[in-house]
Amino acid sequence: MADRFFPNEMPNFVAETAVGGTSSQEARDSLLNLLSLPYPAFSTKLQKAALDLKESVVRETWGSSGKRVKDYTLYTGALGTAYLLFKAYQVTKNGNDLNLCSQIIKACDSASIDSRCSRITFLCGRAGVCALGAVVAKHTGDERLLNNYLGQFKKIRLPRDLPYELLYGRVGYLWACSFLNKHIGKDTVSTIDMKPIVDEVIAAGKQLAHGGRCPLMYEWHGKKYWGAAHGLAGIMYVLMDLELRPDEVEDVKGTLRYMIKNRFPSGNYRSSEENNSDRLVHWCHGAPGITLTLVKAAEVFGDKEFVQAAKDAGEVVWNRGLLKRVGICHGISGNSYIFLSLYRLTGNPEYLYKAKAFACFLLDRAQKLILEGKMHGGDRPYSLFEGLGGMAYIFLDMIDPKVAKFPAYEL
Ligand SMILES: [Zn+2]
Repeated sequence: MADRFFPNEMPNFVAETAVGGTSSQEARDSLLNLLSLPYPAFSTKLQKAALDLKESVVRETWGSSGKRVKDYTLYTGALGTAYLLFKAYQVTKNGNDLNLCSQIIKACDSASIDSRCSRITFLCGRAGVCALGAVVAKHTGDERLLNNYLGQFKKIRLPRDLPYELLYGRVGYLWACSFLNKHIGKDTVSTIDMKPIVDEVIAAGKQLAHGGRCPLMYEWHGKKYWGAAHGLAGIMYVLMDLELRPDEVEDVKGTLRYMIKNRFPSGNYRSSEENNSDRLVHWCHGAPGITLTLVKAAEVFGDKEFVQAAKDAGEVVWNRGLLKRVGICHGISGNSYIFLSLYRLTGNPEYLYKAKAFACFLLDRAQKLILEGKMHGGDRPYSLFEGLGGMAYIFLDMIDPKVAKFPAYEL
């Protein structure tokens, strides 16, 4: 088990010094020096590293491709680079980033137009291209383009055999609708249009649960997953952003309570109903993705039990979440967000420190460890969800930690 993550030897808390690391502290560990930097100095370092990384990501995923898009998805493809550029623009207001972002989305639009019928989610499909395209067009002030992307979004049809999970399924489309409603305006996609899909998701969950101990249950490729990418955590997260009837709210709460009650003795969560091995501490499978869903439940319902469960799950991420990968999906970048989310929920500065600690580890060591072969560079090493794109993204998000949101998950 230990080979999946680095033992977390960082202190549970380090007070920030007035001036940060000085030459008299040369003998001190470079990671500890970073950890004791006051937040403004730390955030200046992060921004510089993030903008350098962004340049590499653009060069490797766009420049060297001859500007032809093969993988258009946000998860591992060109749309992820566009999402990173949009975040960089939001932080620095550099118009070149926004223009390049817009150009990449247009290429993703051309590359995805024929996949309307099969891939439809925000993370891995056409909805992501059209929704991000619309939001970016709003920022460039191009109303014609904005309406064009919205029109394209509304042409997306959900195949009948579509699964329910976030990455490829119905809630991955619903998430894109909520994204539009948040960033373009309320009712950009109306509740009336979304409700039949919500009804299908709830009905399918009840049918598979068939009156068992968990009110809602889903299957993807024959397994009843629990995590954010393919399972209950992701589906419940999206449902909590939508208008539900009181009985549906109780089903969501009951499903989360079932997961809390049946978590592993370690505090971690199983990847699926069928799987009893306590191994994965990823956003996709395990405590990290579930922590974000529990934070959401605490924010939406206000129940103390969800606050406590989220804190418990965050403990697992601190102890076993320093993964030997950098990305958002199953790497340290994604796991850093867990503490930002808990910080937003509780206001406790210890969580901000923990997020800072994971980011410091990445900043100080990740690229060296990858070069030495001690850390996996990712199957798509520059992508948003599996590679350095994700590291750049969390660095940019930590500059203003109170508004940081896990990309394509927290709204
Ligand atoms: Zn993953």
